[in-house]
Amino acid sequence: MNANKKVVKSYQGFEQGPIRPPSEAYSLLIRVTRNCPWNRCTFCPVYKGSRFSIRQVDHVIQDIDSVYRHVEALQQKSDESDHISQTEIKKAVSEIQPGEMQAFHAAINWFVSGMKSVFIQDANSLIIKPYEMIKILTHLKRRFPWVERITSYARSHTIAPIKDKDLKEIGDAGLNRIHIGLESGSDQVLKMAKKGVSKETHINAGLKVRGAGIELSEYVMPGLGGKKLSEIHALETADALNQINPEFIRLRTLAIPNSVPLFEDYEAGRFEKCNDLLMAKEILLFIENLDGITSVIKSDHILNLFEEIEGKLPHDKEHMTEILHRFLDMKHERQYLYQVGRRVGIFSRLSDMENPYRMAKVEKVCRQIGITPENVDEMIDELMKRFI
Ligand code: SF4
Repeated sequence: MNANKKVVKSYQGFEQGPIRPPSEAYSLLIRVTRNCPWNRCTFCPVYKGSRFSIRQVDHVIQDIDSVYRHVEALQQKSDESDHISQTEIKKAVSEIQPGEMQAFHAAINWFVSGMKSVFIQDANSLIIKPYEMIKILTHLKRRFPWVERITSYARSHTIAPIKDKDLKEIGDAGLNRIHIGLESGSDQVLKMAKKGVSKETHINAGLKVRGAGIELSEYVMPGLGGKKLSEIHALETADALNQINPEFIRLRTLAIPNSVPLFEDYEAGRFEKCNDLLMAKEILLFIENLDGITSVIKSDHILNLFEEIEGKLPHDKEHMTEILHRFLDMKHERQYLYQVGRRVGIFSRLSDMENPYRMAKVEKVCRQIGITPENVDEMIDELMKRFI
């Protein structure tokens, strides 16, 4: 048998991967690859132990067609304003073949969410050949011409060598936003975290995406440098982003579940984790050093201590840093109550502490679980693991 011959496998049905960015909560998820081709980042638990593979394009097309058939059927059962009754939904469910259930669920969730966006999975979809991506995008647009946004995760390392012309064609075919896990702009931090990319490649890839007319969303990971590299992490990350000027900068705080490689270093004392106080100082230093760019900053991840840090640069910079100053200026006895309140979902912003009812609830939680100003950091670590 010819060893180079491509193995053609039969279609195993509609597939979805495990994650998507928080901003893609209402998107249809279309799986083009399985898992992560790199899979070595020391902080990342998502695909560890799972092998990477690329799905056949005709299988992806079959997934899209399955969703399309269900969407068509749902449109027929809905009224003029695309509203579908519970009775019609139950009737539709009863008519579904068992092998079609996953595609139907994807279709109905998407249908009731307004069918505005699609997210291409899994961790690094741009690794497939540009012409294959264009074929998938073209088919998506043909089936769902009303879709406003098609987005994907991609690694800078994968984007950097793509020809400008190919990336432009991918953008023209419909991919209008790419999410990159920048995590840090510091080469020291990137190396320590085994991100497999340098600051320079991050910058090149970011500029390339912007040059192709595709929106860029860069994820930054506060805390990734630990105590030792906290300052350089903040400064170098700001410097990299100042050179890229992405449309979005999104914060996603480091957490260290037992399942990630970094946990071993943490346990052995080789990695000293920043507590919330240091993390707030790091984020402040980072935002203060963002300069000459027009990015929108979002803090839309459940792991983040400050959900309310949001705004467009340069206009909202002062407002964002003021939130951090307010927290840092608090007495420790009050700071720890905010930390706990935020982590258990009672507070979403600092001003929630003025609400006596919410404050009493937080104090009760502290009494019940035994959280004190002295043990708050380790208790917070445990709470955060629940959200990973
Ligand atoms: S590239 Fe992304 S998905 Fe892959 S291991 Fe790193 S963080 Fe995880």
